[in-house]
Amino acid sequence: MDLFSGHINKLIEELSGLPGIGNKSAQRLAFHLINMPKERVDRLAKTMMEAKENVRYCQECFTLTDRETCPVCANAGRDHKTIMVVENARDLAAYEKTGKYAGVYHVLHGAISPMLGIGPNDIKLKELMQRLQNEVKEVIIATNSSLEGETTAMYISKLIKPTGVRVTRIASGVPVGGDLEYIDEVTLLRALEGRTEL
Ligand code: ZN
Repeated sequence: MDLFSGHINKLIEELSGLPGIGNKSAQRLAFHLINMPKERVDRLAKTMMEAKENVRYCQECFTLTDRETCPVCANAGRDHKTIMVVENARDLAAYEKTGKYAGVYHVLHGAISPMLGIGPNDIKLKELMQRLQNEVKEVIIATNSSLEGETTAMYISKLIKPTGVRVTRIASGVPVGGDLEYIDEVTLLRALEGRTEL
């Protein structure tokens, strides 16, 4: 016997499919949504649709943006010859928050993980190699220090080395398995300054 209405069950099911939302949280959110004023639910649904329809990948670095080119890539004052490779847009935001990095980025949207069946073609790696057709003097690999992040870093460095472009890896002062977005700015800057040749 179903304890709740079919509509609530469906809502709980949709919500529990989101990352970090278990069944209990999904239930709590579902009941919260039902008890919210209709205007707020409308606004939330509309905001989600608008974001989905208007957010796209930057044509250069593949971060998420509302424009064709993101503000970092569109900024002529940035050093376009230094590219920092990160796993996701949240990592980019973490480095941007330090305000000390003057280069541009490349967002992979994931990391290579043989265990999860994520291969080089499933992340924006081809796109990175295409960018190296332009004049690039350094690629800084800032993937996480997890197994997947390290595997990805090794893979990228092997691909880039033959091109003669300098490849560096941020220092591993960053806690193992730690997501870049949770690391404080001082640690991030130290990792960047202490980067080593690959
Ligand atoms: Zn960009």
